[in-house]
Parts: sequence; C-alpha cells; structure tokens
Amino acid sequence: MILIKAAKNSYRQKGRVKSAKKLALDYYLRSRLGEKGLWSKLYKDGPVGRRVYDAIVKHVGALSERCGYCQDKIFHPSNSSVDHILPASVYPQFTFIEKNLVRVCVTCNMLKLAEDFYVANAVVGSGYMKYAGCWSCYHPRHHLFSDHCERLVVQTNTLNFRAYFAKTPEGAVICHKLLSRVSEFEMKAFANPGVALAVSKLSAAAHAAGHSPTPAIAKLVRLLIENV
Ligand SMILES: [Zn+2]
Repeated sequence: MILIKAAKNSYRQKGRVKSAKKLALDYYLRSRLGEKGLWSKLYKDGPVGRRVYDAIVKHVGALSERCGYCQDKIFHPSNSSVDHILPASVYPQFTFIEKNLVRVCVTCNMLKLAEDFYVANAVVGSGYMKYAGCWSCYHPRHHLFSDHCERLVVQTNTLNFRAYFAKTPEGAVICHKLLSRVSEFEMKAFANPGVALAVSKLSAAAHAAGHSPTPAIAKLVRLLIENV
C-alpha cells in the first residue's frame, strides 16, 4: 500500500517511521470511509504528513519520465504533478490507492482538473478495478498509451502542431475529453507565447505549494487557458 510504503521511506529512524506509519494508516482508513480533501490535508499535516506526502510524490514521479496523458517528456520537477486518475473529489476512497496515481505534466493536470472521464465505471464501490478491460477510458496505469492512441508532433522554427488519434473506444474518450484540449492549448500557446508563459507559471505556482489549487485559482487558470 502506497501510504505505508511512503511512511517507511519518509524516515530512517525507527521511532519516526512508527509515527509516520500511524499517520499513514489513519489517512488510509479515513479515505476508505469517504472523507474528502485528504490529499491536501496530508501535505499540511505537520512535518510528518509533509514527509509522507513528499515520499508518495517521489515514488509516483519515479514510475515514469513521461506525462501519463500527453506523453511529453517531463524534464524538470517544476513541470511535474501527481494526478488522481479517478478524481479524489469524486472518489475519495481511492485517494491513496497506488494505481489511481500517475505522474503528469502541469498542463494536463490543469486542463483535466477534477473532471471524471470514467463515469461509466462510477459504480465501483470500495474496490479499485484491477483489470484493463474494466475501464471505459484510457487509464494511464492500466493501459499502454500506444495501444489506444497515436501521437503526432510536428515542430519547426515557425510551427508547433500536435494531434492525437484514437485507435480504440477507450482512446477516443481520452482524445475527446483531454488530449484535443492539450493540442489546442499548445497551438494557442505557440501563437501567444507571453500569455502561455503566464498561464504555465501560474499553474506551476499553484502546484508548487504541493496541493491542488483552490477552486478560485483553478477557475482563473482555466479562463486564461480558454482565452489564450
Ligand atoms: Zn501532459
């Protein structure tokens, strides 16, 4: 379980590991009971909570060097974020389920926000579905991107174009719900580099605090993205 793993990795001294494990177990149980907002609460829960949170982020970050959605290579931690595939605001019981966490770029995280792409799987109860075939939308931890989507990127001095093509119905959902927005944003960003830089700086600042942006900041960034 990722929380216990993170608790073990957060400290070396036995006594401290013990208190980190206690806190981790408490958060896990509360999440399974459906308590919301635990992801940001953990980060703010004193030095122990912060260490456990950082250990989870480090663990998820080490799983891939690419964004789980757009497949861009993530070169710097400032462009790296952890996304809850099934949004924690809708499915609090999966806040700390390892397979529900994926490394993503800041752009995808901001464009996805708390949108639920997996509505068809909404009746999942407390068990997280383990089989790739259960998911109606491309799932970055259960599916291979290249099995479901094709990515085309053309970049020259004067042109920056990217497009995503679905190969399967699951790929079509992610292309329609998110990747088409990523392409559009990239194209607009290329045409308005100043505004795009401001949007990405604001997004990075919101995430640098280590928790999801407040609804007001998320709305502001979204408005900027839509109007770039
Ligand atoms: Zn991305």
